[in-house]
Amino acid sequence: MKKILKVIGLIVLILICGMTLLQVTYKNKGESSYTGSVSKGKLYNSYLMPYSGKNFSYFSPMSYYAMGNAYVHSKLYHTLLSSYKVCEHTCPDIKFKLMECANKKGGKMLIHRTHQTGLSVDFMTPLIKNGKQKRLYDHMGLGHYLLEFDDRGRLSLDKNVTIDFETLAKHIISLDDAARKNGLYIKKVIWKIELKDELFATNTGKLLKKRGIYFAKALGPEINALHDDHYHIDFALISK
Ligand SMILES: [Zn+2]
Repeated sequence: MKKILKVIGLIVLILICGMTLLQVTYKNKGESSYTGSVSKGKLYNSYLMPYSGKNFSYFSPMSYYAMGNAYVHSKLYHTLLSSYKVCEHTCPDIKFKLMECANKKGGKMLIHRTHQTGLSVDFMTPLIKNGKQKRLYDHMGLGHYLLEFDDRGRLSLDKNVTIDFETLAKHIISLDDAARKNGLYIKKVIWKIELKDELFATNTGKLLKKRGIYFAKALGPEINALHDDHYHIDFALISK
């Protein structure tokens, strides 16, 4: 029995090393394209997001290296990087976390119904405690998707930690601006229905609301409950 476990462990290790090598040696070049839709699609010549930058990082080494889930369409790659650049000035003290993107060739992904064309991204919800960014929960990896918040945006594990709605609004505005400069637009934001009022009540949230970006108006209970620790955004090509 011990021997079998050892062999299985070794095979898993080899697979993880092999997958990691694929991401580490990957080179972004040219332009991406896709076929199909976010819920049934394929991505060609994808771009791999950097694991980290000045004010952002990817949320899970497992998701990035072993699962290869940090690929996006080239237009979205440029959009995400330029939005983070803007946030260096609009949210100077905030470190952002990028969550799951897409597989290298698009298509189905574990735990997601969409994310199939490289134009969908999950962003980790920024948190705040006593006026300062709270980053303790940013390091939970895939377990972060399980965090829960009440309808006022307070974390169930610690009610003094709340969603930083102002920063969230600033980030979405920077994404909207950057998307337009890169031939994309925000097609849909999936964000827990009960938390929309809090988001649109902040100073920047009011500006965000004026832009008329489409936020899902009704969600099934499971999908709704999931979209509080992160916000999901579907982008689309302006010309399509
Ligand atoms: Zn998503």
